[in-house]
Amino acid sequence: MTHEAGIPLGIRFKLLSDTPQDSAAQVVGDVVIGDYRDLDTLRDFARGCDVITFDHEHVPTEHLRALEADGIPVRPGPDALVHAQDKGVMRARLDAIGVPCPRHRIVSDPQDVAAFAEEGDGFPVVLKTVRGGYDGKGVWVVRSVEEAEDPFRAGVPVLAEEKVDFVRELAANVVRSPHGQAVAYPVVESRQVNGVCDTVIAPAPDLPAERALQAEQLALNIAKELDVIGHLAVELFETRDGRILVNELAMRPHNSGHWSQDGAITSQFANHVRAVLDLPLGDPRPRAKWTVMVNVLGGDYPDMYSAYLHCMARDPQLKIHMYGKDVKPGRKVGHVNTYGDDLADVLDRARHAAAYLRGTITE
Ligand code: ADP
Repeated sequence: MTHEAGIPLGIRFKLLSDTPQDSAAQVVGDVVIGDYRDLDTLRDFARGCDVITFDHEHVPTEHLRALEADGIPVRPGPDALVHAQDKGVMRARLDAIGVPCPRHRIVSDPQDVAAFAEEGDGFPVVLKTVRGGYDGKGVWVVRSVEEAEDPFRAGVPVLAEEKVDFVRELAANVVRSPHGQAVAYPVVESRQVNGVCDTVIAPAPDLPAERALQAEQLALNIAKELDVIGHLAVELFETRDGRILVNELAMRPHNSGHWSQDGAITSQFANHVRAVLDLPLGDPRPRAKWTVMVNVLGGDYPDMYSAYLHCMARDPQLKIHMYGKDVKPGRKVGHVNTYGDDLADVLDRARHAAAYLRGTITE
């Protein structure tokens, strides 16, 4: 999708991909298959590139520093990206710049988790491995010392957080360029099912203008303080007492910004490309009153394409984005966007299409 955004600008992409089956490898012309954890592979790949950017955050920080030392611009740079790679580093930095976060600290063992619980309101406590988690993997909600043993098995540092009693999850998406120009997308509501993003509504319904502005400013401030280049997604909790707390950061086009492909004047992908090339950023404002994105998860039914006929005929405004992935139950294999003036109708159309593509409904 980032590649797609570069095409009208005549920008050529070269892709380093784990396997030829990866979504991007199926569409980019110039693909190198290799391991992003191997410095020699990265160095060979980077030769001749004007700039390097990412669609995931797992390239080791020290390898990115080595590429920078070789003179290749890496955007976002390793000193910014580490805050999206390591939740411990992220929490420490956000504390230092005064960004509100859930109560937290690094814990050493299950007894320490019990001590952390006692320092606050007791169990439950949320435990997270500081590196390597995604889509709820690497996150545990524990109710006792006994339950707190699992997260320590991986041998990675573990972060404990209070379990926030949130009313909903929001995301503030911003893009920043090396020039220091920045734009903010409308704050969205993001609904998760089993720890996986299911639905995004843009803009977040019934969010008071003042709180939306506060969330946008908070994200713009993080982007500036951390010197983020490109797209930054700030995942937020809105608490029952009206506070906004930061959950985590992603420094790349993000699932909470997929709605912008069809719902904003400039998509997150187009603005990410502009930012890493230090071009003027595009207008992030919405094109419609409401845009809804629903993720399409794999179901039991491997052939999603047969559903196109029904979905497209039923809703000519529907935008389908499939990733060319093999269908496995629960795997994100695509998303749909719909938009319009009536939120209930827009939500209904998006949910219907996603469920039909998944095969959980047949009408
Ligand atoms: P991932 O790296 O998998 O995206 P997150 O840190 O975003 O992990 O956590 C996944 C989900 O777990 C969040 O979207 C939220 O629903 C829930 N969660 C995470 N941290 C907390 C917390 N401190 N309190 C309550 N729920 C949480």
